[in-house]
Amino acid sequence: MVLALTALNRACSRLLRSPNTALFSPARAQQLPARIRQNATIAPSISPAAAARQQRVHATPGRRLFSQTPRRPYQNYDPYDPHERLRNAKPLFTNRGFRGFIRSPSTHTVAALAFLGAVGFYFYNLQTVPVSGRKRFNCFTEESVEAVSEQQVKRIQWEVERQGGRFLSDWDPRTRMVKRVMRRLIPVSGMEDSDWEVRVIDDPRQANAFVLPGGKVFVYSGIIPIARNEDGLAAVLGHEIAHNLAQHIGERMSGQIGINILLGSFVLLTALWGGAILGTQLFGGTVLDLLFSRPMGRKQETEADYIGLLMMAEACYDPEQALGFWQRMEYMEHMEHQREGAPPEWMSTHPSNHNRIEKIKQWLPEAMDKRAQSDCAGTSAFAGRFRRALAQGLII
Ligand SMILES: [Zn+2]
Repeated sequence: MVLALTALNRACSRLLRSPNTALFSPARAQQLPARIRQNATIAPSISPAAAARQQRVHATPGRRLFSQTPRRPYQNYDPYDPHERLRNAKPLFTNRGFRGFIRSPSTHTVAALAFLGAVGFYFYNLQTVPVSGRKRFNCFTEESVEAVSEQQVKRIQWEVERQGGRFLSDWDPRTRMVKRVMRRLIPVSGMEDSDWEVRVIDDPRQANAFVLPGGKVFVYSGIIPIARNEDGLAAVLGHEIAHNLAQHIGERMSGQIGINILLGSFVLLTALWGGAILGTQLFGGTVLDLLFSRPMGRKQETEADYIGLLMMAEACYDPEQALGFWQRMEYMEHMEHQREGAPPEWMSTHPSNHNRIEKIKQWLPEAMDKRAQSDCAGTSAFAGRFRRALAQGLII
């Protein structure tokens, strides 16, 4: 049986190797029709142009079919070794590339158009601040700033609660005092339409207050002893409302746009001179902040002092009390800085309290005139008579 199977296997092998039975033997190819033989030699059929291109590509050493870049010479490196790959890495942007980009005529056309557009945009959005009459650039509407501050209100509430703080209740004497002052200041601010909300944060160590756009008032309880009375508190709240009235937040947001444009231009210029781009971004940002943001912050603070003083005078508060309040604040800050060390004024967004007090002294006569025009004398005389009559048990 085994012998028979071996014999059959040998016979089959012989049959397969024989020229007459092999599938692709030259002898069988000769037997195929001439047309099929021709196709078989040319196939796959491609156009003469493509064939020429293929030949060209293959003829050029180091060129690949779908790549325009030359093939990198073979290096004996491990592609999975990060250090090796870092050593062979090429910079994405080079100073030479930047210089070429900046010197091209199309870049100049785009830059000129952008500059003209920016100038037009700036003049279109120039506004005059109410009361002070200062000209400024503000491209944000009141509504868009209010939408931003809506989120801020939620964040502040969350932040106060996260730090274990709490808001004073509506019937707390300090909240009622703040609300009383606000009731007198709102009608003279011209912003009666805003949705006013007053929140007093119970934090005796913080002497601060702020009003977010849209009429959201936050007062730290620590400022009430420094304000001493309603006139002092009117000086603080008048200042904070004035920031809103003059739309200072929109102005600051608009200023940031200008700073970003300037910073971008500086980066392009230093690229032209071959300077370090990263260094400009870091250093340029600080310089521009000192040059523009901080003085603008001081200008806004001084403006808020002026508007706030006139506002409290019109609401029949005593403007001289503002002087007393800022003197007490100066004393408090002086004590604090003795412990920590104060930055110089040019580094700060706020004018020093000394400068602030000097300015308020200059504006006091104007504020007193404003108070006189508000017929406060008549009101206070009436209030005085009412108090005396009450003490004597009389009805007037
Ligand atoms: Zn301020």
